[in-house]
Amino acid sequence: MVAPFYWHHGDEVCWRPGKAVCVGRNYAAHAAELGNTVPETPLLFIKPDTAFSPLPGTIAIPTDAGSVHFEGELALLIGRPLTQANRDDAVEAVAGIALALDLTLRDLQSDLKRLQYPWEKAKAFDGSCPVSPFLPLGPGDLLTPWGFQITINGETRQRGDSRQMIWPMAELVAEISHHFTLRPGDLILTGTPEGVGPLYPGDQLLLQLGHLPAWEADVIAR
Ligand code: ZN
Repeated sequence: MVAPFYWHHGDEVCWRPGKAVCVGRNYAAHAAELGNTVPETPLLFIKPDTAFSPLPGTIAIPTDAGSVHFEGELALLIGRPLTQANRDDAVEAVAGIALALDLTLRDLQSDLKRLQYPWEKAKAFDGSCPVSPFLPLGPGDLLTPWGFQITINGETRQRGDSRQMIWPMAELVAEISHHFTLRPGDLILTGTPEGVGPLYPGDQLLLQLGHLPAWEADVIAR
């Protein structure tokens, strides 16, 4: 049973949560901090619906598989089916925006990268995608600048700004729809800026989207 998504004003999102299509390396400074090159087309991976966990609340992390990094990311909620879409169709298909964490088993990911294996075990594990409530997006809202901030134990660790993205959000959604059909209830995770790092049980997070009041989350051992 997958927990539903919620709108910021409290109503349940009517679409059942689907998959999350995620982009790696969409901020140049983050690619650089991990020593990665920026690919010519978006590097994509998918998290299943079993990855979602609702924010605010607790974030349960595995403690037996090496370091778990947080990656704060703007998350887009798809509201219309989208296949082989152009940019304008993509803009109209995005129904909401939220803040999500792309939790990553970083040691395991490094091992998988070295072996040239897929990343799923490091990226798509149960609970690897905490998601905040969604703000509804009106026409054109996707094209305005969006910012967010991740604070851990009182220290601001990440500041994101959609204007720093290598692939802007509308183009990214359109591009993704050329590889994977998107359905209502699917999410797009748009990549993380610099500042990623490990989470530990006991950490207290504040996640702020735009100028909204911050959502709180406490990290616990799974
Ligand atoms: Zn990420």
